[in-house]
Amino acid sequence: MKLSELKVIVTGAASGMGAHFARQLAAEGAQVAAGDINESLLSELPQSIHQRKLDVSDPHHCEAFVAWAAEKMGGLNALVNCAGILRDGLLVKKDRETGAIKKLSKQDWKVVLDVNLSGATFMAQEVVAYMAEKNVRPGVVVNISSISRHGNRGQSNYVAAKAALAANTLTWAREWAQFGIRCTAIAPGMIETPMTRGMNQKARDAVVAMIPSGRIGEPDDIWRAVKFTIECDYFNARTMDVDGGLSF
Ligand code: NAP
Repeated sequence: MKLSELKVIVTGAASGMGAHFARQLAAEGAQVAAGDINESLLSELPQSIHQRKLDVSDPHHCEAFVAWAAEKMGGLNALVNCAGILRDGLLVKKDRETGAIKKLSKQDWKVVLDVNLSGATFMAQEVVAYMAEKNVRPGVVVNISSISRHGNRGQSNYVAAKAALAANTLTWAREWAQFGIRCTAIAPGMIETPMTRGMNQKARDAVVAMIPSGRIGEPDDIWRAVKFTIECDYFNARTMDVDGGLSF
């Protein structure tokens, strides 16, 4: 698909990679509808980008957002599922001094699944339902997974969400082939965004030391992969790790 022919929704578009993708897509001539829970940050995007508050974890929000975006853009043929959150913690932790046991809270488990997995799923479902009903083809859904999908200490909730999203990328590609809609995923490594900026410097340096490419990634490294999966019509159903070689 040509970027200039896209009528695309980007979620998580107020910050980090989502904001970069929205700007790049608009610069390439795509019509863009940007959604994020953070409305004030969203308004910093160029006014040529349609903007509206979106909580992807609420199915009613997703439904209303998709209807609004299709109306604003005069159609819809693509989605970039980028909204995401972290609530890291060991599933079971024992305090070295007191021996006290601390468990990952059920809330931290639930909210990460609600946003990263259910949210991406609700958005994909609404967008594809729209395209199937209107016989829009071709179409593409790009999921932003993570290399944590392979497993990562301290991220049970995030790993579960991002691995399921990668697995369902194949499920959905097979289900939506009949509608002429592809489904792809990118699994970024460690990327310089507000999500990683809060990381403890020592932990961050230790991760960077394990990256063969020798540096943390930039949103533009991931944009180039997103662009490739949109433009290459033969790329389908797969999740591409873009991580400087960090994952195993
Ligand atoms: P980011 O800068 O924190 O951007 C994520 C955006 O999503 C934020 O604006 C966030 O708002 C928003 N969001 C949170 N909950 C939402 C909801 N319920 N509905 C709609 N929007 C919501 O993070 P990023 O690093 O660019 O991450 C983008 C995607 O890449 C995420 O899916 C993340 O899991 C994935 N990823 C990131 C890295 C990395 O190293 N940065 C690596 C692998 C994968 P708030 O700020 O208000 O929460």
